Amino acid sequence: MDCIFCKIVAGEIPAVTVLDEDKVLAFMDINPASRGHMLVVPKKHAENIFEISEADLAAVMGAVKRCSGAVKEALGAEGITVLQLNGKASDQLVPHLHVHIMPRWEKDGMSVSQWEMGKGDREVLQEIARKVQEHLA
Ligand code: AMP
Ligand code: ZN
Repeated sequence: MDCIFCKIVAGEIPAVTVLDEDKVLAFMDINPASRGHMLVVPKKHAENIFEISEADLAAVMGAVKRCSGAVKEALGAEGITVLQLNGKASDQLVPHLHVHIMPRWEKDGMSVSQWEMGKGDREVLQEIARKVQEHLA
């Protein structure tokens, strides 16, 4: 399979590794959006959150927690943005699930979390929640 992150996992293309575990690899993002920006990926290929097993995702998120704490301490970050995109509509570029860890500082000028807030209509929210619950059952 022609997947750039599978090639990094296999050691076929280089990456700056932060954490190498049984199920998970963490490495520095090649085009960092902030100082310390890194990615955490499952070693077993899964394109997105819909495809990955809960066990593999749990392993990824455990590593995300530990790497977030470590990079916060290492760089004196004031906050961390954790971001994970699924599908082109969500701006996912690399089709191998990855979680971004982006160290943040007050007034760092990043706009990743500054979406326009809508106005929630309680009836609409309830209707959506009910529809989602039908699919959770
Ligand atoms: P996205 O799919 O939009 O969540 O973002 C993909 C991310 O992968 C971007 O932040 C890229 O800079 C990063 N990226 C792409 N290729 C590499 C690579 N070879 N090594 C490290 N990071 C990469
Ligand atoms: Zn892959």
